[in-house]
Amino acid sequence: MAGLNSDSNGVKVNEEEATVHYRDAARDKAARVSSRAPPPRYSDVYSSGPLHTIVGVRLPCKPPSTLWDLAVADGKIASIEPFVSHPHDIAHLPGVLVATERLLAPSLCHAHIHLDKCFLLQDPKFLDLEIETGDFNEAMELTTQAKSRFEEEDLLRRGRQLIEESIHFGVTVMRAFVEVDGDVKFKCLDAGLKLKKEFEERCEVQLCAFAQLPLFSGEDGGVEIRDLMSQAAHREGVDVVGSTPYVEQDEVKMKMNVRWISMMALFNGKPLDLHLDYNLEKSQDPLIWSALEILKGRNWTERGGKRITLGHCTRLTLFSPEDWRKLKDEISDLPVSFVGLPTSDLFMMRNESRARGTLPIPEMIQAYKLDGAIAVNNVGNAFTPQGNCDPLSVASLGVAVYQAGTKKDAEILYECVSSRAKAAIGVPSASVDFAVGDPADFVLFDRLDIGWRCRKTITEVVYDAGPHRQTIRQGRLTTT
Ligand SMILES: [Zn+2]
Repeated sequence: MAGLNSDSNGVKVNEEEATVHYRDAARDKAARVSSRAPPPRYSDVYSSGPLHTIVGVRLPCKPPSTLWDLAVADGKIASIEPFVSHPHDIAHLPGVLVATERLLAPSLCHAHIHLDKCFLLQDPKFLDLEIETGDFNEAMELTTQAKSRFEEEDLLRRGRQLIEESIHFGVTVMRAFVEVDGDVKFKCLDAGLKLKKEFEERCEVQLCAFAQLPLFSGEDGGVEIRDLMSQAAHREGVDVVGSTPYVEQDEVKMKMNVRWISMMALFNGKPLDLHLDYNLEKSQDPLIWSALEILKGRNWTERGGKRITLGHCTRLTLFSPEDWRKLKDEISDLPVSFVGLPTSDLFMMRNESRARGTLPIPEMIQAYKLDGAIAVNNVGNAFTPQGNCDPLSVASLGVAVYQAGTKKDAEILYECVSSRAKAAIGVPSASVDFAVGDPADFVLFDRLDIGWRCRKTITEVVYDAGPHRQTIRQGRLTTT
């Protein structure tokens, strides 16, 4: 069976044919970009018939020497049985994917990614905006300049590229931030809504209408941005609202920011995403204590408030064990998740003595029983010039950043870009220990023909986040 594969219709093709299809698709895509014609829908190019059997896979929590057959029905796992099928007899059948000896794991998730400001460093339109100092103020300045030139055409082109590349890395769901303010108005949001629709069959794009700029400290006291954000929160297709309290000019306004945006989330029945405490200064009091007080003061849980996701929070890296325990107590029954962004934080976040810091997510999970995930954040812009759209590369970086090298550590890191990432944005997921009834959202690693270097375990894919993946969402292949 070496070299054989199945397309989304379950029809057997070999690797060479698949490569040719891929090259054709890439050439078609390049032509589309240059002509600026709207792309065809994925379903017009690739058939998307459902799979009903995935044959001969390795599973994360089973011994790597054992192989399994998964039956899929209605987008869920219908059964998990020891491998007994005969691929030579069934590979030609529609809905059968022969994946002998490949590792099947839960699909990946971007818990935090900026859709509108991706690839600014690669896009020819913005090539004059080069990094010269590489600090936060410059990143804000360059991004502000870029935003003044944003148009639907480049927002769609760059955003489409990010989603497409993410799907090829195994992503089936993402929380995508689109900024709303007096400069871009609804340009980013409108493009995000179009992309959400365009990709709805292949990837769930959860849109967060996001106030990156101050809600109270602007020239007009934030009147315009608050008006725009209020309208955005009501828009169909906007799933989440979020803001950045740390950009306000003082602590009073930071608290006003949290009060206002949390009210907006609660009244509209939407999850809340706050980018908080983005500093490493011991002298600066963390805002998180006030934020939790405000949220509890709103009777968040009793009023059915949705999930609260807190990103960045680098200031918390200076917490003592006592602070962490207090944090767990203060959160109490609030549905709070933390998202660490190590790729961005390592580039951008340092204190005066040049110490680095990023949320110690694995320790927060294991030692303090907090909910957490890690994410890519930015791709190809002045906030994070390095890295790509692969959440697994962040898990791989985590092995070094958190000195998390054991099998158990690797499994937690994988969960942080998979099941825990989905939980952090309120999406159901299979755990790495698959069970019947779990969503059939998977990533398949490696090809059939690479022999003993084929990665067999979660530990191996976290150590080596190499390419060669296929993505399955709701029981359908979303990549070739
Ligand atoms: Zn961010």
